[in-house]
Amino acid sequence: MNTVIWWIRRDLRIQNNPSLQAAINTGLPVIPLFILDPHLLQNPAPARHNFLFAALMHLDENIQIFKNHLVIREGNPTEVIPEMVLAYNVQAIFAEEDYSPYAIQRDAQIQKELPLYLIVGNVIHHPELVLKSDSSPYRVFTPFRKAWQAIPKSTFQPMRITSIYSPVEMISSLPIPLSKADPSFPATEQEAHKRLNQFTQDPIFHYQQTRDRIDLDGTSTLSPYLRFGLLSISEAFHSAQTALQLASTQTEQQGVQTWIMELIWREFYLHTLYHFPFVLKTAFQPKRRAILWRKSLKDLEAWKNGQTGYPIIDACMRQLNDLGWMHNRGRMIVASFLVKDLLINWQEGEAWFMHRLVDGDPAANNGGWQWSAGVGLDAAPYFRIFNPVLQSKKFDPGGDFIRRWLPELSGVPQNFIHEPWLMPVEVQSRVNCILERDYPLPIVDHQLAKKRVIAAFKQ
Ligand SMILES: Cc1cc2nc3c(=O)[nH]c(=O)nc-3n(C[C@H](O)[C@H](O)[C@H](O)COP(=O)(O)OP(=O)(O)OC[C@H]3O[C@@H](n4cnc5c(N)ncnc54)[C@H](O)[C@@H]3O)c2cc1C
Repeated sequence: MNTVIWWIRRDLRIQNNPSLQAAINTGLPVIPLFILDPHLLQNPAPARHNFLFAALMHLDENIQIFKNHLVIREGNPTEVIPEMVLAYNVQAIFAEEDYSPYAIQRDAQIQKELPLYLIVGNVIHHPELVLKSDSSPYRVFTPFRKAWQAIPKSTFQPMRITSIYSPVEMISSLPIPLSKADPSFPATEQEAHKRLNQFTQDPIFHYQQTRDRIDLDGTSTLSPYLRFGLLSISEAFHSAQTALQLASTQTEQQGVQTWIMELIWREFYLHTLYHFPFVLKTAFQPKRRAILWRKSLKDLEAWKNGQTGYPIIDACMRQLNDLGWMHNRGRMIVASFLVKDLLINWQEGEAWFMHRLVDGDPAANNGGWQWSAGVGLDAAPYFRIFNPVLQSKKFDPGGDFIRRWLPELSGVPQNFIHEPWLMPVEVQSRVNCILERDYPLPIVDHQLAKKRVIAAFKQ
């Protein structure tokens, strides 16, 4: 019997999934296939792998509703796919297009021999569609956004899957690797929809005011769901458009528009990786490739472990290490601190984020780091250096976020929470937070560090 493969990669969902729909439309039995690729799984990323395996488990349950099942194989896809094609009379393979350099090369190799159809799904507009008038890619966000928004979008039509016709033959599968339930990010399609619905009902309207407040839940927390495709980006965009029509004030409209802008930033970085794959190896700006970074393992470890003596940095890093997620404002503050205050290579930070983040995505993470370090496309200017104390006072004014993640500072009074090193000795004893014993002194002087980094960048 002839079959087709739905090759699942970053689209772990049944609903609104164009590759699955294309496979079903052939009318042939569908083999839902996921390949555990050692190349992609070799670097430890506990939170992300746990989320992936939990999402696969859930996807399999959803597929079983249609009397079919997920087939797990392990190995290099360039070998696994041809084996499957031979064994099961596969007529075509359908997969969502992926823009990482590794994926592009892998898919091109398979396409030389086999009918692999790549379907656009992880972005709204294909990278070849958003180009300047001379057909070159954009390097600055604002003109990219304008061009992106000017392209007509097809009306979003929810896809209703009523069957995933199963092959008669029972196809064996490896077990899905074990995962632990993570209450912060349950890896189900239902959860993704719940978050999208809750967010677009109300918080989206206040997003402009709340999105930078680290102490509030003002953002959607959809990043792992978009990263692994438990939610379709078209559906997220469509929900935002609907919210825009419902917005009744200018402030509400701005909230929705700002959130849409973030979805476009996501797309900007995916396109960047497609057009400039070298960014995964080096700075986008050639003149920023020769900076003399400091090599201080001690400072790097203090940053990773949330022991820098700057409460806002330490709280964010402990949130990352514990939850596998960090608020966007936090990501910007800790990135600036590593690169500008400690003068440590941004690639160290990029790698640590990829190790810890549940939403770790090569495009967005690389884009975020290059932007923060002032070395990338349309990056923050190198002399823009976040002052960690001012950022803390502005975006966690009551210190609630700091106290949540740094229990050793829970008793520190409001006037010292952002700068505990100013606490007189008697206050330290009273609140049971003795500096250097319970909490470190700052590992760097911000004002001196500022001069040092400006000199290094100028050089
Ligand atoms: C140094 C640094 C590293 C980052 N690494 C990643 C990463 O590995 N994976 C990741 O998904 N995002 C990354 N970001 C972007 C951003 O911080 C997260 O997407 C966001 O915090 C996720 O929270 P949310 O889902 O509540 O976002 P919301 O504010 O609700 O935004 C909605 C969605 O838009 C996308 N988005 C928002 N901001 C950005 C942005 N600046 N760049 C790209 N996409 C964005 C995300 O998919 C997000 O889920 C990074 C930012 C920085 C500064």
